[in-house]
Amino acid sequence: MKKPTHVYVGRKPCGCAVMVTYDLGDKETAKEVSNAIKKGLTIDRYSRDVYRNTVSNEPGFMDCRHVSDGMMLLTMIENADDWIRSGEQVALDAAGGK
Ligand SMILES: [Zn+2]
Repeated sequence: MKKPTHVYVGRKPCGCAVMVTYDLGDKETAKEVSNAIKKGLTIDRYSRDVYRNTVSNEPGFMDCRHVSDGMMLLTMIENADDWIRSGEQVALDAAGGK
């Protein structure tokens, strides 16, 4: 197999790199990148050297501590929806619904 020369790095809105995948130029790579975009990440493409020497040394690399950025908020809202839904179900059950 050909060695990948580039990597894709997915960044959260705060700028932290939280996803890295080798650019293998195949379907899997495309899927990973499109999933990352769907999650709200910004995709950057770097050569392996730049990645190794710069990106992987960035503060927050694979270690984002920003809890109040857009993505965390989104996750919290998604969870809140679940809680509300299950809460509604509990209320319905309690009321003898169905
Ligand atoms: Zn961050």
